[in-house]
Amino acid sequence: MFKEYDVIVVGAGHAGSEAAAAAANMGSSVLLITMNMTTIAQMSCNPAMGGIAKGQIVREIDAMGGYSGIVTDHTMIQFRMLNKSKGPAMWSPRAQSDRMRFSEKWRLMLEATPNIDFWQDTVIGLKVKDNSVKGVKTAMGHTIYSKTVILTNGTFLNGIIHVGTKQFGGGRMGDRSSQGITENLKALGFESARLKTGTPVRVDGRSIDFSRMDEQKGDAEPKRFSFTDTPLLQKQRSCFLTYTTQKTHDILREGFDESPMFAGRIEGRGPRYCPSIEDKIDRFSDKDHHQLFVEPEGWETVEYYINGFSSSLPEHIQFKALQTVAGFENARIFRPGYAIEYDYFPPYQLNYSLETRLIQNLFFAGQINGTTGYEEAGAQGIMAGINAHLKIKDSEPFVLKRSEAYIGVLIDDLITKGIDEPYRMFTSRAEYRILLRQDNADLRLTPISNALGLASDERLERVRAKEQAIEASIKFINNLSVSPDEINPHLEMANTAPITQKVKLTGVLLRPQLSINVLIDALPSLKEHFSSYGNIADEIWEEAEILIKYQGYIDKEKELADRLSKYDDMHLKADFDYHKLPSLSYEAREKLSRMRPSTIGQASRINGISPADISVLIIYLSK
Ligand SMILES: Cc1cc2nc3c(=O)[nH]c(=O)nc-3n(C[C@H](O)[C@H](O)[C@H](O)COP(=O)(O)OP(=O)(O)OC[C@H]3O[C@@H](n4cnc5c(N)ncnc54)[C@H](O)[C@@H]3O)c2cc1C
Repeated sequence: MFKEYDVIVVGAGHAGSEAAAAAANMGSSVLLITMNMTTIAQMSCNPAMGGIAKGQIVREIDAMGGYSGIVTDHTMIQFRMLNKSKGPAMWSPRAQSDRMRFSEKWRLMLEATPNIDFWQDTVIGLKVKDNSVKGVKTAMGHTIYSKTVILTNGTFLNGIIHVGTKQFGGGRMGDRSSQGITENLKALGFESARLKTGTPVRVDGRSIDFSRMDEQKGDAEPKRFSFTDTPLLQKQRSCFLTYTTQKTHDILREGFDESPMFAGRIEGRGPRYCPSIEDKIDRFSDKDHHQLFVEPEGWETVEYYINGFSSSLPEHIQFKALQTVAGFENARIFRPGYAIEYDYFPPYQLNYSLETRLIQNLFFAGQINGTTGYEEAGAQGIMAGINAHLKIKDSEPFVLKRSEAYIGVLIDDLITKGIDEPYRMFTSRAEYRILLRQDNADLRLTPISNALGLASDERLERVRAKEQAIEASIKFINNLSVSPDEINPHLEMANTAPITQKVKLTGVLLRPQLSINVLIDALPSLKEHFSSYGNIADEIWEEAEILIKYQGYIDKEKELADRLSKYDDMHLKADFDYHKLPSLSYEAREKLSRMRPSTIGQASRINGISPADISVLIIYLSK
C-alpha cells in the first residue's frame, strides 16, 4: 500500500508542515503522517504569528522558501509592526490570523506541493536497524519505510491536560495524546523530560461589551510577511485592551487550592516569560491589575482569545473571575483555559542538522526539542526538511551561523546551551541584531537557500533586482541636494531645525526625526525615483534609509561577526577523542565528548567550556 519514501514527517503542525514542504520542494518524496488531517498547522494557542524576534523568524522562513509567511499574509486580520519607535534591529512584524483559514490555507498549499503524500494515522514507534531509522510503525498496524524520518510531535507526546483537579490525556484540548514514541526512543537510549505550557479561556464575542475596553487598531499601512507578491491587507479587525481588577485576583485566589500548578500535580516547567494569570497574581502580589488583550480569532467567528488570562484553575473560577473584568460582565465562554504537560527530548542529543546523534537519519524539529511557538517550530521544521533531503543526497549538512539568521541563533542555543524551560526567541538572544533585521531576511537568506535548491530562481531574481534598486537609490539620495525653500516647511513639521542654505539630502536624512517617507512628499524628484519601483517602493526606500542611517553600526557588527566567524570555520572531527587531551578541564572533556561540536565556535558556546579550554583546542588544531 505504501512505497518507500525519502522522508516521512510525523506530525503536521508548524514544524512538520515546513519540514514536508522544504524536503518536497528540494525533490524528496515525502509522506506526511498526522493524527488529524483537519488540524494541519493548527494554532494551538494564540492565533497570531510573529511578534518581537518571532516576526524576524517568519521573514527568514519565507526568505528561505518556506510557507509560514505566505500563509500568514493570506489569512491575517490585523497587522502591526512592533517596536517602530526603536531602531530597525528591533522592528518586528506581528499579525493576528484567522485561525481556521490559517490551517486551511496551509493544507491547500501542502496539497498543491508536488512530492507530498498524506496519511492520517498515529505513529506509535520507529523501525530502527543498525542504529539507523528505516521507517515508522502506526496505530493502524502499518509499517511504512523511508530513508529518513522527521519527528515533529509538538505537545502530543504523553500529553496530559490539566483544568483544576481534572486531568486527562490529550495533545491539546480536543486531540488525543501520542503514546509509544517516547518509550520507543527511551529504549533506544534517548533521554526525555517534561515541560508545560498553558492557554487562556476563549469567549463568545456576542457577550462582550467592547465599549468598556480600549480599541487597538492595526497599522494604518499594513505590511506583508512574505517577500513574494502576497496580497496586502485591505481592511483589518481591531483587538481590545482591558484590565483585571483586585476583585478578579481575589476570585482567582479562591481557586488556588485546586490549582494543578500550586498543588504540584504539574511537574514540567513552564515558560517564565509567559506566566499564567494565577502565576502573575502569586508572583506580583503588589500589582492590583494586569493587562488583558482581547483578540478576535478570525474574520467571521465571534470567538475571542483572551491574551494574558492563561489559566489551569477550575473552569468555574476562570468564568467567575473573568466576569469582574470591564467588558466581560456578561461573558459566556466557549472553552476554558488549561495547562498541558508533555515529553520533550533535550536538544543536546541532536547534531546541528537536527539529526539525532544516536540514530542516523532520524531528525527532531519543533516543540519536541523543548521550544515553544509556531515560529520557532517552523524554523526548525524547514531546517530539518532541508537536512533530511541533503542526508539522502549524501551532501554536507546545512547549518546557519548565528551571524546569518535568528534560525542559526535558535539552533545553536538549543544545542550548545540546552534548555530548562520552554525556549522562545528574543532579540536579546542574538548578538548580531543589526545584521539580522526583518527587512533584510531575503537579502541574507534567499541566495543561500537558492544555492541549496530550495528558494526558487524567481525569488532569487527578485532579490537581485531589489539589491540593484537599493544600491541605485542610495546613489540617487547621496547625489541629491535640497534648498531651504523646498524642505524647511517639512523640517518644521517634523520638529527639526530649518536649513539656511542648499545641503546634501543625506545630511538631512541622518536626523532622527526624519525619514524618506516624509522627504518623499517634499521632493518631487525623490518621489519620482521611488515610484518607479511600483509595489515594492516602500521596501526599497526603507532599506536604503536603514543602510544610510545605520551603516556605521552595521559595518562594526559585520567586522565583529567576521572576526569571530573564523572559529566557526575551524572544524572538529566528529569522532575526536577529547579524553586524549589532558590539558582540557574534566568538565570540558565530558561535555565535548557528549555534545560533539563540529566547530571551535560551537565548542566555545557550550556552557562550562572556558576560554582556556578553547585555547587548548586551537593549539591542538594548529599542530
Ligand atoms: C495549550 C497550549 C498552549 C500553548 N501556548 C503557547 C504560547 O503561549 N506561546 C507560544 O508561542 N506557543 C504556545 N503553544 C505552543 C505552540 O502551539 C507550539 O509551540 C507549536 O504549535 C509547536 O509546533 P509543532 O509543530 O512542534 O507542534 P504542534 O503544533 O503541536 O503539532 C504537532 C502535530 O503532530 C501531530 N502528531 C503528534 N503526535 C503524532 C503521532 N504520534 N503521529 C502522527 N501525528 C502526530 C499532531 O496531530 C499535530 O498535528 C501552546 C501550545 C498548547 C497546546
